[in-house]
Amino acid sequence: MEDYKLLYEEMLRKFTQYKISVEKEIQKLKLQNLEVEQKLNNISNIVEIGKYINSSISSDNLTSRINDMIVGIFGATYSTIYLNKDGEMAVKVTNSNICEKPSKEIELYIRSGREFVINYESGIYPNESVKSNIHSIMGTPICIRNELVGYIVVEHTLMDFFEKENLKFMAGIASQTAIAIENANLYGKLQEVAIKDPLLSIYNRRYFYNFIECRMNLNKKRRFSIVMIDIDDFKVVNDTYGHQCGDEVLRFATEIIKQHLSETDILARYGGEEIIIYIEEFENEDRVFERIEGIRQHLCSERAGNSQVPIYITASFGISFYPNDGDELDDVVEVADKMLYKVKQNNKNGVLSSAKECVF
Ligand code: GH3
Ligand code: MG
Ligand code: MG
Repeated sequence: MEDYKLLYEEMLRKFTQYKISVEKEIQKLKLQNLEVEQKLNNISNIVEIGKYINSSISSDNLTSRINDMIVGIFGATYSTIYLNKDGEMAVKVTNSNICEKPSKEIELYIRSGREFVINYESGIYPNESVKSNIHSIMGTPICIRNELVGYIVVEHTLMDFFEKENLKFMAGIASQTAIAIENANLYGKLQEVAIKDPLLSIYNRRYFYNFIECRMNLNKKRRFSIVMIDIDDFKVVNDTYGHQCGDEVLRFATEIIKQHLSETDILARYGGEEIIIYIEEFENEDRVFERIEGIRQHLCSERAGNSQVPIYITASFGISFYPNDGDELDDVVEVADKMLYKVKQNNKNGVLSSAKECVF
């Protein structure tokens, strides 16, 4: 009987031990399961965030949208996105009303491009700072192909709100942000290529026409002037000094013209060595003539290009006005072209305006 009792107690002890170890195992598995669920959750969040960030290809409000999203996801007090501008990390967007300089410590992290989590009971910023109630702060670099292009800093008033574990998730957001920034940059470049002349870096003819037609649609009554410019005997430049030198002379002429333009003027390459200007703000026709005459004189007084031999060029200019010279853009351009043609027939190197038809 005693033996059975001992055996029973031994079995009960073993069973209890086994039960405890099984319960522990179940607990461990549950925890692991939770962790996996959390990770899966993070991954699907990042996928959703990626979709959201990349839903618009243009850079309009891109960083603002990302910043708002970070604030929402983390429930952060402040979120700030820095972007590299001329070698310096500058605040691109923040939800804080007052854009405060980061503390020295945080600035060092931003510059080094290292991620960090800081929690201080005493507060991270000095007492007089707007952010003196911040106790938890986390930062993640934004990199495109190992190059540091930006930085995200999120802040919270609660101590230990951010922990190292959050950095993985932040890194996911940062890499999605990097992709979106790169896409936006590429898109911007593509748009630029579509509207600019590659040699002279001024607008192309198509953009010039589209732009003015839009302006005309917005306000049919707005007057404007069109100036057609053609370099004189440009073939001689090409034939004498070579095509490359000709390109350089074209760039030189463009730069001189640019120096005389105001912010609202639009400059475009019309054809080979023909350049066109749209002038919208002018006092009267005489003032336009004087400005263009200024360009003509400047152009022929400076040495064109940097070649060994000194090259001097001249150009001819034709000016027309809307609505005086036609109701349609084509008609106004045609009149400017006619004025230019007349100058070409009359010794070149001159300006002729449809408003005064007198050749210099
Ligand atoms: P005119 O005074 O009558 O205008 O004489 P021109 O020699 O300037 O006249 P034309 O318009 O016949 O010649 C323009 C030349 O410009 C012909 C073309 O080979 C050259 N050209 C057009 N585009 C470019 C370019 O992008 N680079 C260079 N170097 N030359 C160009
Ligand atoms: Mg010419
Ligand atoms: Mg020509």
